[in-house]
Amino acid sequence: MEVIKVSSEEINKMKQHYSKSITSSIPQGGIFLAKVDGCTITAYKSGKVMFQGKNFAKEAGIWNSNSSVTINNSSQVSTTKAKNNTLPNNFASLSVLGSDEVGTGDFFGPMVIASAYVDKKHIPLLKELGVKDSKDLTDTQISAIAKQIIQFLPYSLLVLHNKKYNELQQAGNNQGKLKAILHNQALNNTLQKIAPVKPEGILIDQFCEPGVYFNYLKGKEIIRENVHFSTKAEGVHIAVAAASIIARHAFVQHFELLSKEVGISLPKGAGAKVDEVAAKLINQNGIGILNNISKLHFANTEKAMKKVTKMK
Ligand code: MN
Repeated sequence: MEVIKVSSEEINKMKQHYSKSITSSIPQGGIFLAKVDGCTITAYKSGKVMFQGKNFAKEAGIWNSNSSVTINNSSQVSTTKAKNNTLPNNFASLSVLGSDEVGTGDFFGPMVIASAYVDKKHIPLLKELGVKDSKDLTDTQISAIAKQIIQFLPYSLLVLHNKKYNELQQAGNNQGKLKAILHNQALNNTLQKIAPVKPEGILIDQFCEPGVYFNYLKGKEIIRENVHFSTKAEGVHIAVAAASIIARHAFVQHFELLSKEVGISLPKGAGAKVDEVAAKLINQNGIGILNNISKLHFANTEKAMKKVTKMK
């Protein structure tokens, strides 16, 4: 992959050059996206043009003479206030493996964990692509960004579907323990993908005290070396933001699939609307349906049951 910076005239030339290969999807902040044999070319309003795919060097070579290579821009250290005592000052500019989870507060839908490795040379590109805290992005933006970053970031995505989640939960594994097991697994998967390269740091979006986390993992092969925890970790290193976007994208896709399966647009979260829809589903299909589409131990199950009794 290569990123070059060119003038707006040059971008116009490129647009003409690739006119027959331009696709209908335009990424956030983008001017055009073209696909030629073995290379995807994305031009941005900032003047940056990204070449991805096995023929990237050949394709970028056509334009290189008039451009300046910008991929090694130094990145600024994030100023987000977060609870982390052990991180080095320059942590935001290091090559980091990050992990985050999605769906843990939603009654409906799976729990999704992702880890992603960001080599420091990719940090400017990820910023260019709009990678930031997924809470500040719409689902449409998340989906567009996720599709681009999974093309070049080493990552691991784990989806714990509701049926299995409920089984494990009823067997005595609380949600914190399930999160810990899946974070550890996702980190391990990506570490194996990038080996023999090792990250300069590993950052987990903190959901419990580190001691509790490692306790949950007793008896397992634990990833410990260089592991840091921080709350609001999406703002501490872009690797966590990228992981969060990959996880959120998968969650939304599975959520839409579930909605289709049951024929109702399922609400996110765990509020009153969720109780209402759950009651409706129980009424139509029986209580059994919830085992496959929701996290049964949430209070929503009981609240929905009470509503069903009232309906009858
Ligand atoms: Mn998180």
